[in-house]
Amino acid sequence: MIDLTGKKVLVTGGSRGIGCATSLLFAEAGCDVAINYAHKDGPAKSVKAQIEQLGRNCLILKADVSKINDVERMVRQIFEKWDGIDIVVNNAGIWTYGEIGDMDESTWKETMGINLDGVFYVCNAIVPEMKAGKSGVIIIVSSTAGIRGEAFHSHYAASKGALISFTKSLAQELAPYGIRVNCVTPGWVDTDMCADILSDPAFRKGVEESIPLKRISNPVDIAGPILFLASDLARHITGEILNVNGGSVLCG
Ligand code: NAP
Repeated sequence: MIDLTGKKVLVTGGSRGIGCATSLLFAEAGCDVAINYAHKDGPAKSVKAQIEQLGRNCLILKADVSKINDVERMVRQIFEKWDGIDIVVNNAGIWTYGEIGDMDESTWKETMGINLDGVFYVCNAIVPEMKAGKSGVIIIVSSTAGIRGEAFHSHYAASKGALISFTKSLAQELAPYGIRVNCVTPGWVDTDMCADILSDPAFRKGVEESIPLKRISNPVDIAGPILFLASDLARHITGEILNVNGGSVLCG
């Protein structure tokens, strides 16, 4: 039912976890996919191979989204190959520990740089093209932490909270240009990001018990709602904060 044949999508952090599942689902829906990542070449190459197996084109772009020059180079590289980007999924992010009173500035700035500045750099570089074409879809991956806060991860929660107000602002600003901007806020997702902590059986059980649907999501559970928001089924939705958390946090 969701057919995005011919659309071009950029997924930041598309090589692993939620970004990988999203890239593959968009390819299944008919998109060509540009995958951004920062460090590990192997997973990016593997996703590219899977997308090409589906008969779609794939670009892989190594760029640190926290660096404006990297992002501008990445966007230039895409426009050299493709005539535009229809959909951008701002997904790249990190989650680190930080206890207030004992958090060094580099920990704070690293998180803000990747999780927040990176989304600004990507949107700032791509929106002029979308405005000129009078269409586009921007999806931002925030977190339940951005809604309810998260002890010992205040820097992460602050970066993700900022993405929620960034989404709502861009949605209003860009609606006259036919550009929709929406956000998903996942709860716990089984990815590399939280593999260490979720490998503790007692902790994992406690997390599962705390979620009304009694399960921890997998990356496909997040990719589906992202695909929906990018599709015409969501053509009247903009500025939305879509909880994808099994019912654990119910506000946006
Ligand atoms: P993940 O499995 O750790 O994957 C992170 C992805 O981001 C990788 O492709 C990684 O590429 C890329 N990346 C990291 N730093 C980057 C940078 N500076 N520039 C460009 N790419 C970078 O993470 P995930 O769990 O899928 O999380 C994806 C998003 O969902 C994040 O924004 C995260 O905050 C959010 N989220 C996750 C959870 C969860 O429980 N997992 C919950 C709520 C929200 P490399 O391999 O090259 O490092």
